[in-house]
Amino acid sequence: TTETGTTPNPYANSQPKLSGQAPGERMNATFVTLARNSDVWEIARSIRQVEDRFNHNYGYDWVFLNDADFDDTFKKVTSALTSGNTKYGKIDKEHWGFPDFIDQERARKVREDMHERKIIYGDSVSYRHMCRYESGFFFRHPLLLDYEWYWRVEPSIELFCDIAYDPFKFMKEHKKKYSFVLSLYEYVETIPTLWDSVKGFMKAHPEHIVEGNSMAFLSDDGGETYNHCHFWSNFEIGNLDWLRSPAYIDYFNHLDRDGGFFYERWGDAPVHSIAAGLMLKKDEIHFFNDIAYYHVPFTHCPTGEQTRLDLKCHCNPKDNFDWNGYSCTARFFETNGMQKPAGYEKEQ
Ligand code: GDP
Ligand code: MN
Repeated sequence: TTETGTTPNPYANSQPKLSGQAPGERMNATFVTLARNSDVWEIARSIRQVEDRFNHNYGYDWVFLNDADFDDTFKKVTSALTSGNTKYGKIDKEHWGFPDFIDQERARKVREDMHERKIIYGDSVSYRHMCRYESGFFFRHPLLLDYEWYWRVEPSIELFCDIAYDPFKFMKEHKKKYSFVLSLYEYVETIPTLWDSVKGFMKAHPEHIVEGNSMAFLSDDGGETYNHCHFWSNFEIGNLDWLRSPAYIDYFNHLDRDGGFFYERWGDAPVHSIAAGLMLKKDEIHFFNDIAYYHVPFTHCPTGEQTRLDLKCHCNPKDNFDWNGYSCTARFFETNGMQKPAGYEKEQ
């Protein structure tokens, strides 16, 4: 089937949308949210915060994607909350499902086994489709082809500080391709052979591995093993053209063929992070200290009291995860030769 079309949205343009008060040019950018109809009230909370803290001044578009049709309530509520234009897309069946080379019986046994072992989402088929979609397909959805930059927003997130500038413009002006606010170690049970697959890719496509990359962030032994560090992908601001590049597509196809989205439970966070770590130059990955963010169960609250006061933050600095032992952000600073922000020791 080719269900790639846009769902007509009778509500999106019922009110004229202002493009925001902030002066200056806009980037070719959009927010993007993957959601079910049942997520409507949780995504409503997220949108309200993104609009209040940033987008009411800018009016960037918002693309919503779903493997089913969005219902009228979802479209009405989300269109009313956003300052930019809203677009609603249905995901092609080819991009949300089992590829034909997957052995269904083997995949089923894995889910049963992970259920027994109580691995989070280990027994879920839809979660696996979601992770594969976010890893390899969202940026190729017809509604995203018009854009150069995306900002991923999930249901139930919080933004704790004003965002006093345009992060999309920052990305472009500083030649960034990928960004994060939280980093941590992945559950090893969900990705036991991911690094083997990555090594296979590196061997098959050495031309895609960039000099001056962040291998030291991902591996403590020069690439022999993975240390499980990854950027948390429920927040991402990134460049869509990079994800659509031959390098990224070759990478995704190689991983997909090895079957770990179904024979294990590979998440899009380590998949994106390893790609960024190997195929971008170090300084093309950005840590947004001033974007204060929560997604259960972790908080990024900016280090530095003056920053928090200036940006009218309402997070408790004690909740900041950055300098916790389970965060990889200190490692990111070290492998990038960056100085940790003043006061970080007090927050460890
Ligand atoms: P978690 O953050 O890893 O616990 O996973 P979430 O439940 O937040 O899912 C990640 C994102 O994918 C969220 O934006 C969800 O709304 C979305 N999502 C998860 N499963 C589905 C699904 O089956 N269909 C659709 N359309 N969206 C989904
Ligand atoms: Mn989530």
